[in-house]
Amino acid sequence: MEISHILNELGEDRSLYFNAVSPPIVQSSNFVFDTFEDLRKAFEDEDSAYLYSRGKNPTIEILRKKLAALDGAEDALVFNSGASAIFASVLANVGAGDHIVSVDKPYSWAWRMFDNMLPRFNVTTTYIDGTRIENFEKAILPNTRIIYLECPNSNTFEMQDLEAVARLAKERGIITIVDNSYSTPLHQKPISLGIDLSLQSATKYLGGHSDTVAGVLTGKKDMLQKIFNEQLLNNGSGISPFNAWLILRGLRTLPVRLQHITKTTEKVIGFLKNHPKIERVIFPFDENFPQIELARKQLSGACGLLTIVLKADSHEAIERFTYSLKHFLVAVSWGGHESLILPQAAGIAPETFDPTIEKHRMARMYLGLEDADYLIQDLEQALTVL
Ligand SMILES: *Cc1c(COP(=O)(O)O)cnc(C)c1O
Repeated sequence: MEISHILNELGEDRSLYFNAVSPPIVQSSNFVFDTFEDLRKAFEDEDSAYLYSRGKNPTIEILRKKLAALDGAEDALVFNSGASAIFASVLANVGAGDHIVSVDKPYSWAWRMFDNMLPRFNVTTTYIDGTRIENFEKAILPNTRIIYLECPNSNTFEMQDLEAVARLAKERGIITIVDNSYSTPLHQKPISLGIDLSLQSATKYLGGHSDTVAGVLTGKKDMLQKIFNEQLLNNGSGISPFNAWLILRGLRTLPVRLQHITKTTEKVIGFLKNHPKIERVIFPFDENFPQIELARKQLSGACGLLTIVLKADSHEAIERFTYSLKHFLVAVSWGGHESLILPQAAGIAPETFDPTIEKHRMARMYLGLEDADYLIQDLEQALTVL
């Protein structure tokens, strides 16, 4: 299906709402029933009719159709955060005594769930370097139920060969889940590579304006129905109609935003790589990226998020550089219109900062919708303080 059709037309029926171009925010908690029979059917399957907006809602329904189609998946669920999409996908598929294999350094709240919450229910997790398929083979136990992936990983962008991991998991009857926030379905298609469940923080590129927190999960209908009934309805973790509408609005411009950011990123990386104060740039499409071959095979693009290693000898120098930037905001998250910087040093106490540890000199950068030259000039002046 063409992306233009998905983003501009799919799931929308203007004759239902006064021929309005923009779909309405159906800001209603509950829906009226004309017969006992209809009501009984809705009780039996809450995803079959509009009953109550914790489950199904017309505005959210439009978004579900578009997100499922973007991923080439049978169905999509939309959550009130990426974290709740992660939580629901995992919790629906493990029971007491089960085991999970996860890539190293998954998104921080996935990590906390694996380390702090699931052990209380006797669910254990083994972390592996996901860049090698042998590591998955070695870590799988008879009670492994889930392989949890994040591709590319946060900060240093390690990748997994999704097709190979999916094949291995299928042989062993294990469910695969991947966090695809970095790439979006425009640049990586996990479902077509055989992954069972693909999730994203819709807060990032899908929303695109830094004004909404949301998450999406796609996959086969039967798997998602189980998650809808056991997790989304029970936890009340579905998105609200207004936030669903904001994501719908963000989706309209997703391809042009990514195209623009791709060009900006190329230009800014070109500048950074030639700057004497930058030791190296970590980015999946950089020629020095260790998995460049896999990146070229599996991703149709990468943009916006990259990591720089600064040549800096003190915590103070990194802080001074960071706050000399006029157009990069110091904030978490990414995927919006505004460029951001998040140095590792910000999370390290000055007395424990050690410049011989490369990680301490790393800074994650996100390039937003500003012009490349505007950002380069800013970086140029700020780097002079290092
Ligand atoms: C932000 C993020 C999440 C969590 O999403 P929220 O919408 O903030 O809950 C998960 N994975 C990755 C890679 C992220 O960047």
